[in-house]
Amino acid sequence: MPTSVPCPNCGKAVPWAPESRWRPFCSERCRLIDLGDWFDEAHRIAGEPGLDSDVDPAVDANLDADTAANEEERSPFFH
Ligand SMILES: [Zn+2]
Repeated sequence: MPTSVPCPNCGKAVPWAPESRWRPFCSERCRLIDLGDWFDEAHRIAGEPGLDSDVDPAVDANLDADTAANEEERSPFFH
């Protein structure tokens, strides 16, 4: 049974094994966040959807929806 370590960022147990490429972090996301908030911003802009992120695509979708809604709210004023 492999030894596990807690992710320094979120506390999730991370198997101390070669396949845990971001150890001691549970994921690239936690590793980058631990580098600092400024890097978190940069990471969101760079955006790598589909790796292990189930949050960022939803955030992007919400932003797009908000933008579309605002445009629809605005358009009646032009008529
Ligand atoms: Zn983590």
